[in-house]
Amino acid sequence: MVTRYYNAKIYSEGKIIEGEIIVYNNLIAHIGEPVMGTMADNEVDLKGKYVFPSFKNSHSHSPMTFLRNAADDMPLGDWLNTQIFPKEAVLREDECYWFTKLAIMEYLRGGITMASDMYFMLDPIAQACTESGFRNVLCYGANDAVLNGKSPAKIYDYGFSQLKGNFIRYRVGIHAEYTCSEKLLREISEYVNDRGEPVYVHMSETKAEVEACKARYGKTPVQLFRDLGLFNAGGVVYHMVHPEGDDLDILKEMNVGVVTCPASNMKLASGIAPVKEMLEKGLKVGIGTDGAASNNRLDMFRENYLLSVGQKIKYNDASALGTNEILNMATESAESLLDLPMLGELKQNSFADFIVADMALPNLWPVENIANAIVYSGGPSNIYMTVVNGKVLYKEGQYYINEDPDRIFAKCQESLKAIKDRI
Ligand SMILES: [Zn+2]
Repeated sequence: MVTRYYNAKIYSEGKIIEGEIIVYNNLIAHIGEPVMGTMADNEVDLKGKYVFPSFKNSHSHSPMTFLRNAADDMPLGDWLNTQIFPKEAVLREDECYWFTKLAIMEYLRGGITMASDMYFMLDPIAQACTESGFRNVLCYGANDAVLNGKSPAKIYDYGFSQLKGNFIRYRVGIHAEYTCSEKLLREISEYVNDRGEPVYVHMSETKAEVEACKARYGKTPVQLFRDLGLFNAGGVVYHMVHPEGDDLDILKEMNVGVVTCPASNMKLASGIAPVKEMLEKGLKVGIGTDGAASNNRLDMFRENYLLSVGQKIKYNDASALGTNEILNMATESAESLLDLPMLGELKQNSFADFIVADMALPNLWPVENIANAIVYSGGPSNIYMTVVNGKVLYKEGQYYINEDPDRIFAKCQESLKAIKDRI
């Protein structure tokens, strides 16, 4: 199947190329100037709309849509222990599936073609994503409470053997230092060292978390993970709002990237991550929404904006972080950060994951500096079309995800009521 998207303005490395994208099945066969004589099965006139690399949501908990707006305005520790964990404890797999489908709808409408979910129930997420044609990098949020005596090696082995396919990648996940015993961390270290696997983990999200780790071990969480050998094959840390001492140098040395989640960190009053310094040190940095419970939107436009203004405030510098850098973190950086070949830059032989934006809307006029327009003025309303793996999954308010959106809403409503009845 060959599809030719013509009459497009294609954003590439801060510049606009007027031309077309030719998609052969799920790959980009050509991008740029029109090619004479191309025979296509489908011809799509984009009428001068803009094509961008898609947003990659590098850290989320998709099923947590059911906790959206349920408990707000609390600090992280109280919020997790009194509001989140008790409700998640009664969540069933079928409910997790429907809540994930709702998240996928929100992602696609906002130009997101991939999430990376950490959760304690991964099969229903993988099923929902695969059926929809949506990408996910999954990791289990291992900790003592969810493992409840089970071997982490068995859980990870299951993940690597079962959670795969065109749309799913699996990684070794640890919920956080503060939810794991030293024994468990040592067990996981042995597992990742045997297999050369990177580790994905929430880390240094709050000042209190770092202080408690220092009190327990005499080290920051970054130092602890390095000393336990957990970073020997690299990894990804989520948040990293409060690095101390040489933490950022250690991350760089161990090839550990960072996913920053500005909205969640601000809303939970955790702080503002020093992203400018991370980039100056050459760290790989991506952007994530975190779950809908702590954000409460799964919207990369808002993350981009908050990342920008947050850095301005943190460094008292209006030019702390450029909009091209932010767009790169939101779109192309996932390729190296999450080790996803062919899912970064829009170019020939990459997977056909891209978004088409309608810039002829009042919030973006006049269209002059494209990156500034997207970061400072853009929003999900500017997304005209979202393409994943060569397939249009969203266009002008319509979803093409093998499920009726009304049924998704009805199932989510039914599931939410059932959860409330069980608590
Ligand atoms: Zn998280």
